[in-house]
Amino acid sequence: MGTKYVYDFEEGNKDMKELLGGKGANLAEMSSMGIPVPPGFTITTETCVSYLDACQYPEGLAEQIAEKLASLEKKMERKLGESDDPLLVSVRSGARASMPGMMDTILNLGLNDASVEGLAAKTGNARFAYDSYRRFVNMYGDVVLGLKPEGKERDPFDVILDAKKKEAGVELDNELSADDLKDLVVRFKDEIKKRKGVEFPQDPAEQLRGAIVAVFDSWNNERAVAYRRKYDIPAEWGTAVNVQAMVFGNMGDDSGTGVGFTRNPATGDNEIYGEYLLNAQGEDVVAGIRTPQRLEELHKYIPEAYDELLRIRDVLDAHYRDMQDFEFTIQEGKLWMLQTRAGKRTGFAAVKIAIDLVDEGLIWPDEAIDRIDPESLNDLLRPIFDMQAKEQAKRDGRMVATGTKAGPGAATGQVVLFAQDAHEMKQRDPEARLLLVRHETSPEDIKGMDAAEGFLTQFGGATSHAALVARQMGKVCIVGCAALDIDYEAKKFTINKPGGGSVDVAEGDWLSIDGTAGEVYLGKIETSPSEVEQVLITKTMKAADSKVYADFDKLLTWADERRRLKIRTNADTPGQSEQAVAFGAEGIGLCRTEHMFFGGDRILAVRQMILSDSLEGREEALEKIFPMQEQDFVGIFRVMQDRPVTIRLLDPPLHEFLPHEEADIESVARELGVSAEEVAERNKRLKEANPMLGHRGCRLGITYPEIYQMQVRAIIQAACEVAREGVDVKPEIMIPLVGSEKEMQVMRELAVTAADEVLRAEKSDLAYMVGTMIELPRACIVANRIAINAEFFSFGTNDLTQTTFGISRDDVKGFMPTYIEKDIYPSDPFQRLDQEGVGDLMKLAVERGRSTRDKIKLGICGEHGGEPTSIKFCNSIGLDYVSCSPFRVPIARLAAAQANIEQTGGQGH
Ligand code: PEP
Ligand code: MG
Repeated sequence: MGTKYVYDFEEGNKDMKELLGGKGANLAEMSSMGIPVPPGFTITTETCVSYLDACQYPEGLAEQIAEKLASLEKKMERKLGESDDPLLVSVRSGARASMPGMMDTILNLGLNDASVEGLAAKTGNARFAYDSYRRFVNMYGDVVLGLKPEGKERDPFDVILDAKKKEAGVELDNELSADDLKDLVVRFKDEIKKRKGVEFPQDPAEQLRGAIVAVFDSWNNERAVAYRRKYDIPAEWGTAVNVQAMVFGNMGDDSGTGVGFTRNPATGDNEIYGEYLLNAQGEDVVAGIRTPQRLEELHKYIPEAYDELLRIRDVLDAHYRDMQDFEFTIQEGKLWMLQTRAGKRTGFAAVKIAIDLVDEGLIWPDEAIDRIDPESLNDLLRPIFDMQAKEQAKRDGRMVATGTKAGPGAATGQVVLFAQDAHEMKQRDPEARLLLVRHETSPEDIKGMDAAEGFLTQFGGATSHAALVARQMGKVCIVGCAALDIDYEAKKFTINKPGGGSVDVAEGDWLSIDGTAGEVYLGKIETSPSEVEQVLITKTMKAADSKVYADFDKLLTWADERRRLKIRTNADTPGQSEQAVAFGAEGIGLCRTEHMFFGGDRILAVRQMILSDSLEGREEALEKIFPMQEQDFVGIFRVMQDRPVTIRLLDPPLHEFLPHEEADIESVARELGVSAEEVAERNKRLKEANPMLGHRGCRLGITYPEIYQMQVRAIIQAACEVAREGVDVKPEIMIPLVGSEKEMQVMRELAVTAADEVLRAEKSDLAYMVGTMIELPRACIVANRIAINAEFFSFGTNDLTQTTFGISRDDVKGFMPTYIEKDIYPSDPFQRLDQEGVGDLMKLAVERGRSTRDKIKLGICGEHGGEPTSIKFCNSIGLDYVSCSPFRVPIARLAAAQANIEQTGGQGH
């Protein structure tokens, strides 16, 4: 037997999505469940692929379609397009994955100048017949004959319809009379002739062939291609085509059409949810021509159909064991189902539905965990915009720019362009809501960043300073927003809008940013804090009062029981550590000490240290910093209790700490007893052409050992102090940017000597570890040698990605979007770990590190430690933990559980 191209609905089932597409497989499934589905057949996705390859129907397809059509005609006891009582069909696309609205659909196929009369006579409803015909000519003209315009031009059929409504003196299309509609058909056909030089085809077989080919071709239309790229849908999949007997929602007031969900897709509540229109067809509900009614109202108008819909809703929900979204049509009081599929939902709904389905005995906890996109937990963790206010802002044209999503959530505030100003404004008015807008941020902006609700930067990528800090502080952030043009002098910026034109925003103006969507809005949009945050972080709500929290907690408890990876956090302050512990962090995987250097008054001493020409001068300054640094660590150890705390010794190039403002230069000069010119001169000497590859990381520790010695002393002294309070403190000292055995050996000796000296003086036998970050390709290659002196490795995948690709992590804006668009990279490797390259280096380092030290502790602390696909990879190569920013800890807990369920097969029941 040759290839089977076409399947009757009776021949398929829901597990045949690859072949029949989602819509076809589910129509088949519903048919076999006894749910009323108009009969039809599905042309397979493989057929589409062969057609697109060869630009012609594969051999045998025409015959198989004719055969299935004949059997459909027999079932319906009518013939396609027959003049006295025609069978009409719909022709719809349906890919494996849902691609809503991206491809084409044609309804009422089979109508022509003769059969429309037959339909009118048979139904006794000329208005209905001509309404169906004008819709068909319109769709066929748009989709098959290509009259639908691209871009901003209006659909010519809409223009004609509007003119007709005006002439007839009506507002809505369902107020047009049969004669009006008949006239519309004539005008539509004329328009086709005028624009395309062809007659609208009267032969039903020709219509069908044209429609099938158009749906195949729509797989490659611009919208579909863009959608596939965005959602990683392979071009090789192709779309199936569903040919189905038409049922009519436009046969009068006992007919209608609608869309719905088996549960509420916004909240997850177990209630029917959706919209319908009476006396309407297909796309009318979503087309916005008339305002649809809430589904619950339907019982007032067609009660039997509504009851039947409620019954089917329960059947579908239970059968698919998941919330479904469905389409239906009611023809003269009789309900028909036209589609079902898993419904899209918010994070709130995803969690609630998964928990409820377990409680209802429909799924097991493993499945509940597996079904939830970890990223969607952001909805439960971060402030969100009032949905309606945001939609209104969009309609009002206030969405003016987009950028790289770097910190999820919603923030609204008054624009500030300088971090120092933000800091001072917040001190003056703690209620102030500020948005910091800059080219990019740097460590010296940290206080101002803390004062702002969110940050928006013109440059920078997903691991730029602003992005890292946003995630760690739990701020909303968009980076690389190329539409901005900031004029610091004039204290304003211009936004070049996507569709042309620009708008100026001055300091003090309100601006709103959606870090989850990467969208920038003019003006204020109200936000509300999440309940989970109110329970765990601000403690303004009791756990018992929040159902959202209860579900969240239940889900994560299940996740914890199923994961192998430990989840740590990247935190630099006691406050961040406390948040992370509240979210379930089991340790600190990265405490970056550089931010501490900017705190309080210490920056002056730090600058004094850097600018000193002598060892004595540096030591004098370090002695001033020591007690402050020690207290930093005391604070963190107290919060973290017996959980491990990895503290990284100073990493960034020293010039980042230098004074740039005149007043700062003068005060440093005064402290040092030298002239301002001299300080400026030293500033100049420390400048580097490429600081990311310059005098940083352990290179600082090697050239200025006194800095690292001070830090190690402060860590161990602080640990001893907290240990005396009865806490089993677990400090882990981490050396950054190691690339050779010798570096590690020297750094270890330095750390152990400094630490042991403190322990001797304190008469303490407190245990500590010394290890390294692995963030250079060379470190991966010589990991066996580095491991001789390192008790742990923590993959710094921000730098490892930067150094493996040879791409500056702060300069990706210029080409990364093009690289993604052109599929050169499948995704931004600074956001999603490049498993093929960087990941392979990690595997090598794991293997070689273990060959020297089989129990070596392994973790990751780059931004990838909070990204689900990267977490899955870390689970697969046997790391012990991942470390991520506090607000990503719950996401990582869930992703780690999913990874382990997939890898081990889970707990089953
Ligand atoms: C890294 O490089 O991955 C890392 C965690 O360090 P940083 O981002 O501070 O360079
Ligand atoms: Mg690094």
